[in-house]
Amino acid sequence: MAAQAPGLGTPKLPLRVAVVGSGPSGFYAAESLLESKLVVEIDMIERLPVPYGLVRYGVAPDHAKLKSVTAVFSEIAQDPRFRFFGNVALGRDIGAEDLAAMYHAVIVATGADDDRKLGVEGEHLAGVHAASAFVGWYNGKPECADLQFDLSQDVAMVVGQGNVAIDVCRILAKPVDELRRTDITQHALDALASSRVREIHLVGRRGPVQAKFTPKELRELGTLVGWQVIVDPACLDLNQQSQAELKHPDFAHAAKNLGILRAFAANKPEAARSIHLHFHRMPVALHGSGRLQQVVLGAQRLQGPPAAQVAVPSGERSTINAQLLFRSLGYQSRALPGLPFDDRKGVLPNRNGRLQTAAGQCLRGWYATGWVKRGPTGLIGTNRLDSVETVSQLVGDLPSLPTAKPGRDALLGVLGGKRHRIVAFEDWLAIERAERARGLLADKPAEKFVRVAEMLAAAETSGVV
Ligand code: NAP
Repeated sequence: MAAQAPGLGTPKLPLRVAVVGSGPSGFYAAESLLESKLVVEIDMIERLPVPYGLVRYGVAPDHAKLKSVTAVFSEIAQDPRFRFFGNVALGRDIGAEDLAAMYHAVIVATGADDDRKLGVEGEHLAGVHAASAFVGWYNGKPECADLQFDLSQDVAMVVGQGNVAIDVCRILAKPVDELRRTDITQHALDALASSRVREIHLVGRRGPVQAKFTPKELRELGTLVGWQVIVDPACLDLNQQSQAELKHPDFAHAAKNLGILRAFAANKPEAARSIHLHFHRMPVALHGSGRLQQVVLGAQRLQGPPAAQVAVPSGERSTINAQLLFRSLGYQSRALPGLPFDDRKGVLPNRNGRLQTAAGQCLRGWYATGWVKRGPTGLIGTNRLDSVETVSQLVGDLPSLPTAKPGRDALLGVLGGKRHRIVAFEDWLAIERAERARGLLADKPAEKFVRVAEMLAAAETSGVV
């Protein structure tokens, strides 16, 4: 029998928790632990030398307000009960079994880095990209730094009806002078400055009521200088089920979207550049010799009861000669070495945040929060409640957790033994100062480092050894 620990979380027996991942859900989990009445020691490990995950690498550079949440995260990180271990990856530098031996509890908050595929002929062609790769590229994610997007093409297509699809459309279309004062990476700015894209098709399989984008983001498309949004009014005719959906509070955003789309549909085509919104269409084949030249779209119709309507092919086909395509069908989490994974749902199998084995047994001391727990949905703030739920499960489990865990000293021992360069939060602050100083030269809030080696070099100026 393992030792019972009624006193876990007290001065004699601080609760030692590792949080894996430093995006919003990881920081909200740390916040929830810090706000509990427990005596805690929180160690957050992050594979990159820089924190904030989706806020740094997912939020669009022209949506700076959304990034202001990092001020809250920075405050959490400077709490004496918290320590940041940047440049430390689960599976690369430390194993799941090591963390289990070191900490009373481990909260996995690794988000969702992969993208869903279209699964159609021709998806391998040059010019076909994941929206997540484009987003990572313009936001300076190290693994996307060397990607190339051929913006010398006239016609682009974005597939998907979520906010990421809208972000991609907007960044492709926004006058570069409006992006210059953001923290967009210089390589993206240079490429966008010579972009020839003048026609963008935003394509989705369901109708205007089922589209996932939010009204604020949709409305913003209509404000892009020199561009016009084109919608075929016939697409806004709703079937009975969609009309019923609109009456439900869960579809309040859809009613607003519909109003915006009706205004777009009344536009007379007059601008030189256009964004065409297509509903009830999906690519069924991509053609080209080596490089994308043409997208074949299959018409879709909705089938099923209100709130559960799915798109099914209706037979008709049409083509659009697009040379660039970004698939934006949502993100997917990656399996983590040593931990169970639900391939079908693309998440860590869990019940309200408690990890479970394939056989449905609770994996004692292991928890998940954020996108790796519930899938890639919701806004940044959604993760707060999600993390509160996970932490409340953890707190409820305290009496059943083994007490003898060495925590931070053991982690430092293992990483020190490998002479591993740990990036402390003070090091990150030095990286951030260096990025801001680089930004000043170009009148930008920051010029991000896009290579891990550059980040580590900037960390050396922190004075922390
Ligand atoms: P999303 O909102 O889930 O949208 C994914 C889109 O892909 C949906 O239109 C979905 O259609 C479609 N899709 C999925 N699988 C498909 C398939 N096999 N074939 C065809 N279409 C498929 O995902 P997201 O745009 O990646 O955004 C992720 C989350 O981040 C969302 O919660 C979003 O609101 C948030 N976000 C927020 C902001 C912001 O606040 N400004 C910016 C970016 C992202 P169905 O509905 O038919 O499945």
